Amino acid sequence: MEGDHVTAPDMSRRRAFLKAGALAAVAALPGLRPGEAKAQSTEARCPPADDFTFEVTRSEEAWRALLSDEEYRIMREGGTEKFNASPYHGPMPEGTYTCKGCCLTLYSSKWKKVLDMGFVFFRHSEPNAVLTGIETFNPYMKKEEPKALTEVHCRRCGSHLGHILIVVPGEMLHCINGTALRFVPATA
Ligand SMILES: [Zn+2]
Repeated sequence: MEGDHVTAPDMSRRRAFLKAGALAAVAALPGLRPGEAKAQSTEARCPPADDFTFEVTRSEEAWRALLSDEEYRIMREGGTEKFNASPYHGPMPEGTYTCKGCCLTLYSSKWKKVLDMGFVFFRHSEPNAVLTGIETFNPYMKKEEPKALTEVHCRRCGSHLGHILIVVPGEMLHCINGTALRFVPATA
């Protein structure tokens, strides 16, 4: 195909450029040979995993004061709302969806998909908005389904939002509890 002939040399040039850039960056560090600089900078950038803390943290009491009982069950205990519990699952105006736990903008209406399946669906999140984890048990799983789900939670406060699932054939979507979100209409 014609496209392949165009893309291959472009990629090769890009790799060469990135490699040259990386070597220049290493050479710019004072007093270190390239090998030493690489080892030390990698170590400095990678703290142990158990050092990780969310940017927004609250005591148990503060979370309970901030959230309703249902919001707490979903966002802090990994629960799931009832089908059609949130008004956001249907058609909505243009706008964004923020986290009820920390106000971070998580999703945009641009990537929302309306499905008559009881939850709020998005094709993807906003950049740097969510993190994922593997959930090994969920009471909503059917017996024939694998016993693991990809959980999605807020990058800033860690609140549980929902899951990333193949909901319709060939399409992986963020299946989100609208209870965890706050809609912010777009300004004209
Ligand atoms: Zn949050």
